[in-house]
Amino acid sequence: AYNFNAGPAALPLDVLQQAQAEFVDYRGIGMSIMEISHRSKEYEQVNDEAQSLMKELLGVPNGYEVLFLQGGASTQFAMIPMNYLQQGQAAGYVLTGSWADKALKEAKGIGETYVAGTGEASGFRRIPAPNEIEVRPNAAYIHITSNETIAGSQYAEYPDIGSVPLIADLSSDILCRPVDVSKFDFLYAGAQKNLGPSGVTVVIAKEGMLKDSPKGLPTMLRYDTHAKSKSLYNTPPVYSVYIVSLVLKWIKGLGGLEAMERLNHDKTKLIYDAIDGSGGFFEGLVDPGSRSLMNITFALGSDELEKKFIQEAEAAGFVGLKGHRDVGHMRASTYNAVPYESCKALAEFMQEFQRRNG
Ligand code: PLP
Repeated sequence: AYNFNAGPAALPLDVLQQAQAEFVDYRGIGMSIMEISHRSKEYEQVNDEAQSLMKELLGVPNGYEVLFLQGGASTQFAMIPMNYLQQGQAAGYVLTGSWADKALKEAKGIGETYVAGTGEASGFRRIPAPNEIEVRPNAAYIHITSNETIAGSQYAEYPDIGSVPLIADLSSDILCRPVDVSKFDFLYAGAQKNLGPSGVTVVIAKEGMLKDSPKGLPTMLRYDTHAKSKSLYNTPPVYSVYIVSLVLKWIKGLGGLEAMERLNHDKTKLIYDAIDGSGGFFEGLVDPGSRSLMNITFALGSDELEKKFIQEAEAAGFVGLKGHRDVGHMRASTYNAVPYESCKALAEFMQEFQRRNG
């Protein structure tokens, strides 16, 4: 299949094959990795390796920690304000689409919030520029969504906001390109797009953000609990973290994040060129300066034509091209594991479809 699913999404074939080879007998121990203690030396090695590879690939500076948590990025939407939003403060959220909105809604139930910037006037076709973000004197933090999975937009440049903590949701674009982690105080990402299977959420944060969570918070919802125990406070999602460790090795083997970014640019260029070169037959749903390297959204002139496109694409082996139910139209998710060949095949299919229907 040409897998363009938005998430859970494609995994590298090499990773799936290695996981298959190790599934029943993990590296000669006579059992699966899922059947042994998370306190065993074998799992500790997986956990340590995944943390250190994440730091290596992203160039995480000293003074930051990597955590593996559960509950998806959606749980982070609540844990962030629970841990960092105090009385008398307001948390600023930059609205770029559905996921930023969900994060904001969750924080509203916990404390005072404000909209620090918004792309709403453009119908979320563009990400607010760094100088359009308002940092209030009592801001607890500013939250941004690096890549809007549903709208198909992505920050080309992250804002500098001074001494107020910058927190970012990288669920759908982590490791798609190099990132200057030192710009951020706290990053998080659900695994099921670029990192591995669902079930694990990565947090990368300054050590100071992971200490002294407010009194009264439940144990599992405190960052200090997980930081103190190296993400082994309770039983972790062992298999998901194991696959994440294989995916990280796969990225390292390809040449790291510079190589990943080049590949992602080459892949998405094929599809954006098919849109831009179509003379309006295909319409991109995001302004060029805010386009995503991971989720390409586009429309056709009518509902009938879009239905026909999806049907014929499915028959030709393309999976997951239907847009999210909130926005409709089409979306091709071109995460790290989607091969160049799949993007080339899709671009050719689009051109061929236009020849027959344009
Ligand atoms: N944030 C973004 C940008 C997402 O794309 C998603 C899921 O698609 C989420 C958050 C929610 O993630 P989860 O399902 O892990 O809670």
